[in-house]
Amino acid sequence: MPQINACFVPMQDDGARLQFLGANRQVTGSRHYLDTGRCRVLVDCGQFQERPYLDRNWEPSPVPLESLDAVVLTHAHIDHCGLLPRLVRQGLRAPIYATEASAELVEIVLRDSAHIHEEDAAFKQKRHRKEGRTGPHPVVPLFTNDDVDRLMPLVRGVPYGRRFRLGQDLEAVFHDAGHILGSAIVEFSVRRPAGTDHVVFSGDLGQWDRPILRDPTLLEEADYVIMESTYGDREHTSREDVESQLAAAIVRTVGRGGNVVIPTFAIERAQELMYHLSRLFEQHRIPRVPVYLDSPMAIAVTRLFDRHRECYDEITQEIVNRGRQPLGFPSLRLVRTPEESKAINDSKMPAVIMATSGMCTAGRIKHHLVHNVGRPECMVLFTGFQVRGTLGRQILDGNPEVRIHGRMHRVRAEVAEIQGLSGHADRPALLRWLSALRRPPRGLFLVHGEESSSLALADQVRRQWNWNVLVPHYQQVVALNGT
Ligand code: ZN
Repeated sequence: MPQINACFVPMQDDGARLQFLGANRQVTGSRHYLDTGRCRVLVDCGQFQERPYLDRNWEPSPVPLESLDAVVLTHAHIDHCGLLPRLVRQGLRAPIYATEASAELVEIVLRDSAHIHEEDAAFKQKRHRKEGRTGPHPVVPLFTNDDVDRLMPLVRGVPYGRRFRLGQDLEAVFHDAGHILGSAIVEFSVRRPAGTDHVVFSGDLGQWDRPILRDPTLLEEADYVIMESTYGDREHTSREDVESQLAAAIVRTVGRGGNVVIPTFAIERAQELMYHLSRLFEQHRIPRVPVYLDSPMAIAVTRLFDRHRECYDEITQEIVNRGRQPLGFPSLRLVRTPEESKAINDSKMPAVIMATSGMCTAGRIKHHLVHNVGRPECMVLFTGFQVRGTLGRQILDGNPEVRIHGRMHRVRAEVAEIQGLSGHADRPALLRWLSALRRPPRGLFLVHGEESSSLALADQVRRQWNWNVLVPHYQQVVALNGT
């Protein structure tokens, strides 16, 4: 049964209401429906990625698309934008507002996802034909590149800090979220006869003092806050020594004549690594070996970073002002074609090889692992969380043998992990962001976290500040009335 907090009054016809349509007591599929009575807006529309919730991706839109005035996007991660192409196929014609950087990044992310869905469907069809069986659902891609073609003309880029009107009684503005390029906190102003309510969606919040991007904006005014809680029950280890860890790993491996193979996420992590490598080269802390960025998607995203300098923090801006490239260095090689990718393995010179995917589940990283995982002088260096069951997790967990491209390979390379590179705010950072509010919000809703994580943070906020906190259930509706 849904838990209804007594502080949240029942719905009234004339008040604004909010419905939770994803990332409720789980992490993916972010989607919220804000209805002021005069204006209807969807905030994010992401893919569900946890196995038990995948069916929700195929359900018809839970909100009537013909009456929707707008979609507002917090950022371009697939669990926040990945159902938009399906909405367009189902009849969405309303504008989709995003920051200027997100408006471009969303196209890269959705085209990559469409490609994966199309390939997966083709592979499954072939397998079903071969095995003479049919699955419970027809095998079709969740969406295609054509759907993305139809979606993109609806996307409107809006600069950070510029108010935009969504309807008679509703305006919004984007603030920095510090999570990925273009990521935003969305602050809505809902006009009522008695005054204006501020409804704030945190989106995904980054840690403070990360490289490249500005820190999350601290807001002082909010009547209702919808906040992520991915790490609501955890504190990250310090990130101050990321560069020392990276330098030590490279010096050690290159010193014995091996390659450092880094499974890399295309958005943000790849660019952060290049930022750190650029500083290490400049300070002569690592030898001048070639560094390959072997991922067309990561290269495309890096180009966006170069174009959207409005997202840079002061330190990165200063690097640009000194005439240097924050994400570039002389030994960086951008690898675009599969032939160039294969040629890396012909070189006898030690190198750093960054390739996608970050958890080794697909992509060019697999063939680099085939060539390096069995060599004791090499290193596989992980820089992000590895989900249970993935090839990355198997290597990180110390499996003596792993299956890659259908063949078993002995793991003889050194396996290491860099701690402290997280894209999400931890519990102290989430509390820091909330503590900027000058008065308690009338309601705090915690979303985008495993149930235990969201509930732990809710407890903490109640104990510490005695605020009204709700961890909503999927499809729960709450009234945002001004009394
Ligand atoms: Zn995200």
